[in-house]
Amino acid sequence: MGTNKVSKPLALSQITIKDSFWQKYEKLARKEVIPYQWEALNDRVKDAAPSFCIRNFQVAARINREKKEKGELFKPTVWPLDTFETLPRSPEQMEERFYGMLFQDSDLYKWLEAVSYSLMSQPDPELEAIADEAILLVKAAQLESGYLNTYYIINDLSRIFTNLRDNHELYCFGHLTEAAVAYYQATQKDDLLKIAMRFADYLDGYFGHEAGKCKGYPGHEVAEMALVRLYEVTGEERYLRLGAYFIEQRGQRPYYFDMEHPEVVKPGLENDIRHAYHQAHLPVREQKEALGHSVRAVYLYAGMADIARVTADETLLAACEDLWKNITEQKMYITGGIGSTHMGEAFSYPYDLPADTAYAETCAAIGLVFFARRMLENRPDSRYADVMERALFNGVLSGMSLDGKSFFYVNPLEVLPEACHRDERKFHVKPTRQKWFGCACCPPNLARLLTSIGSYAYTANADTFFVHLYIGGEIKNEFAGQEVDIKVESGFPWNGEVAVTVKTPKPSSFTLALRIPGFVFNKHTDLSSEYPFSLSILETDGKMDRITSAQMIIEDGYLYLEREWHDEVVIKLNFPMQTDFIVSNRRVRESIGKVAVMRGPLVYCLEEVDNGSDLHLVSLPLSSLREESEDQHSLFSTYICGQEMTFIRIMGTSLGNDMNKQLYQRYKPPIHENVTLTFVPYFAWNNRGEGEMTVWCS
Ligand SMILES: [Zn+2]
Repeated sequence: MGTNKVSKPLALSQITIKDSFWQKYEKLARKEVIPYQWEALNDRVKDAAPSFCIRNFQVAARINREKKEKGELFKPTVWPLDTFETLPRSPEQMEERFYGMLFQDSDLYKWLEAVSYSLMSQPDPELEAIADEAILLVKAAQLESGYLNTYYIINDLSRIFTNLRDNHELYCFGHLTEAAVAYYQATQKDDLLKIAMRFADYLDGYFGHEAGKCKGYPGHEVAEMALVRLYEVTGEERYLRLGAYFIEQRGQRPYYFDMEHPEVVKPGLENDIRHAYHQAHLPVREQKEALGHSVRAVYLYAGMADIARVTADETLLAACEDLWKNITEQKMYITGGIGSTHMGEAFSYPYDLPADTAYAETCAAIGLVFFARRMLENRPDSRYADVMERALFNGVLSGMSLDGKSFFYVNPLEVLPEACHRDERKFHVKPTRQKWFGCACCPPNLARLLTSIGSYAYTANADTFFVHLYIGGEIKNEFAGQEVDIKVESGFPWNGEVAVTVKTPKPSSFTLALRIPGFVFNKHTDLSSEYPFSLSILETDGKMDRITSAQMIIEDGYLYLEREWHDEVVIKLNFPMQTDFIVSNRRVRESIGKVAVMRGPLVYCLEEVDNGSDLHLVSLPLSSLREESEDQHSLFSTYICGQEMTFIRIMGTSLGNDMNKQLYQRYKPPIHENVTLTFVPYFAWNNRGEGEMTVWCS
């Protein structure tokens, strides 16, 4: 194939999402999540953990204004710095100081980014006016130098950049920049973009390889990918150089975080692994294993993939590929959740994927989606898109209730509510979604992803249009100056029927690249035989072509249709979805001997509300799992929170709970009762009250 494989997401303004599944989420993000989050950022949600986010900006702006008016240097009130969280004793006792998590600024930026995407698909002058107000507040808080972080502006400017490892200044900058680019693209207003550029210029003067510059880098990554976006929208090379500097400098010796934090170099702790939490234990090109805080890790890898694409850096891309393989072959839940331990919100050792103490932060699954999309931009390969789809439909969507009003930070694969309430080892696992969090990284992250879903579904370059996710939408694009309309219709995730319509007012030559989802191969391991899906092409003249496998050009899981397109051509695909029983690698001790139910891209689970309590007693016997025993399971449609979805009923057995009261007794062959088990899509669990849940079944 001579086609150019590097591609980029389309502008959201080129895409109108028309998809019965995703449109609802986009609408939910617009109608529920964005307004709700604005209230939360302003501390106006009753019974929810306060944010203090807007308040911090107001205080910083006031301090900044007074400083400018009086022309004197701001004298900070000395508050203890580096406290992770500060809360007022009561609302009446609130003082002119910073409250909340020290990265609270980022919540406003993530909200602004979500608003930008929302405005691109649905103009809303009222919302835009609120966003403009918020941007004015951000502008008022920014120092003349360009520096902007309310924690330090309020607390002590003499200590900026003195704790890069922990204090998230560069993280907040990253989110500011992502929001700034998005808002500019949505509205053509450049106020926020100028704020981000001024801060970026300040950072460019402060950090770098050059003599006299600080050799630090972010403790929490995100600035790397943000700087690439800023470079791509402004064309300013220095932003790309700064992003590349942050990537290259990471993990170089002497360790910057050692110089900054000499206390960490304790006798006996001189090994490199102390910096693994921040992915700073080795230069990034030498990192082979995903380690440390999982959100930071995938944000870094996403930034590396961005730099690799822009600079055509093959060795950096190879490093990304190694890390990708390590995550997806050893450290990822079946739901696409990553970061299996709550200790440091981190990746654990290979194959350590406990179901009930899982961390699997919503943001980490979102970060994996970011990483996957960037790998696809470098090189279309359905492995990346399969994982992106797995994470989106399962580990990401489970983070939000179906009404868009409550959220999971942690996404377990097994829940016993009593354990969450009483077992300290599981206190991090909440049995029901929460309204808001003191550390509210996940809800606004979800909002910005759901409102920009189109940029994950399709990418393009000068001669190829890629469909990575079958999300319905209408896309306008140009190939060699010719306008092309592409319409995608899709039954995902409930059925695999897809139609792609290409409309060209004038004949146009380009390649349409369509992903073949990995799940169609679940039961067909012999790839040399017929592909297990069907494809037909309906031409303008009514001629229907059924394309056989032998005629298809398939590379790395993408079907390439290279041709001259006339008038209107409809491509119909059917990717058969069936109930699949999935086992994990036998090294995953936690799920040995167990199966999980999947259908197409969806992971299913059992809930107490349908199946009663003591879910640990039920099992799927061999007869249920046999391919030919279709009578053993059936599909039915039902509604949760007004959303229609497919449940699966499977004949299973239960051990029953009729053992006598002794804790231990001599073994007797158990008597199994037949039971009908009802499996619900994992993303939709816990929308009908608190109760037990399990993905893995004996
Ligand atoms: Zn989060």
